[in-house]
Amino acid sequence: MKYQWYPGHMAKARRMMEESIRLVDVVIEIVDARCPASSRNPDIDRMAAGKGRIIILNKADLADPDVTDLWSAYFRVNGIACMSADARRRISVRNLTQMTAKVCEERNARRRAKGMNTDHVRAMIAGIPNVGKSTWINSLSGRASAKTGNKPGVTRGGQWIAVGTSFELLDTPGILWPGMDREQTGRNLALTGSMRDEAINIEELALELISFLLDAYPGVLAARYGIDESGQEEETRDDMILRPDTSPNAIRCMDDISARRAFMKKGGGIDYDRTARALLDDFRSGRLGRISLEKPPVKENQ
Ligand code: GDP
Repeated sequence: MKYQWYPGHMAKARRMMEESIRLVDVVIEIVDARCPASSRNPDIDRMAAGKGRIIILNKADLADPDVTDLWSAYFRVNGIACMSADARRRISVRNLTQMTAKVCEERNARRRAKGMNTDHVRAMIAGIPNVGKSTWINSLSGRASAKTGNKPGVTRGGQWIAVGTSFELLDTPGILWPGMDREQTGRNLALTGSMRDEAINIEELALELISFLLDAYPGVLAARYGIDESGQEEETRDDMILRPDTSPNAIRCMDDISARRAFMKKGGGIDYDRTARALLDDFRSGRLGRISLEKPPVKENQ
């Protein structure tokens, strides 16, 4: 399946991001803990060169904790401070405040040595759409709802929010766009809901999720839907238009889920659209359990 990113606006988003980055000492990059590589922007390392860096593995409440630990270690080894979090919890704000202070320690020491005050550490939040930037800004500002300027091109005037006495946060998040060179990136972003569902084939996506789960998280579908996951039936099927590489077992599982949930069309036949939406919704809301879609690359010679 071909996945499309929002067309246009990218040059403008990049320019706004570059302008904002100039104003801050620390860039807090929010990524989705379930797919940190897919939800990162490949240009951020260059754009944020020379700045303090923090990566937040956000929505960690939905991700596999063991895999999240691997990602934390991976980023730390690569010299970037990293924490996992659920943006909606108070403890996350405390952890981030501490981490920001630590990242700024060295810089503050230099400023103190020059007789400058150290009260004005400035930071910004950046990330691709839907990773939780506004939720973080709300949590950090203690406000019920931040103004959302989540479209590239919407300017909010660059206000600073005081986060305790520790740092000041730009109230406008930097909008990034993902690198879409790998098909897996598109799939992961579609699965985690970072792409408008109208732009994708829901049934194909659900089949990809089933295939992934059968392989990486065996038992999850059986536990949730009471279906038999073992693939007995290996004959090919021609009653659905599918990618040739979709496994017959994944299709059979989809049939069984529909049957279990009685998702039938009015005139008879399986309602694949409804089944696919229910499955994706269960995955996205964590009802299938804590699941990660990708692991960090393993270094050779390890
Ligand atoms: P933005 O587009 O990056 O500003 O993302 P939002 O802050 O609007 O968040 C997108 C969705 O993710 C919202 O429904 C949030 O409630 C949800 N969300 C944000 N952070 C978390 C988190 O840590 N865990 C969970 N489960 N949901 C989150």
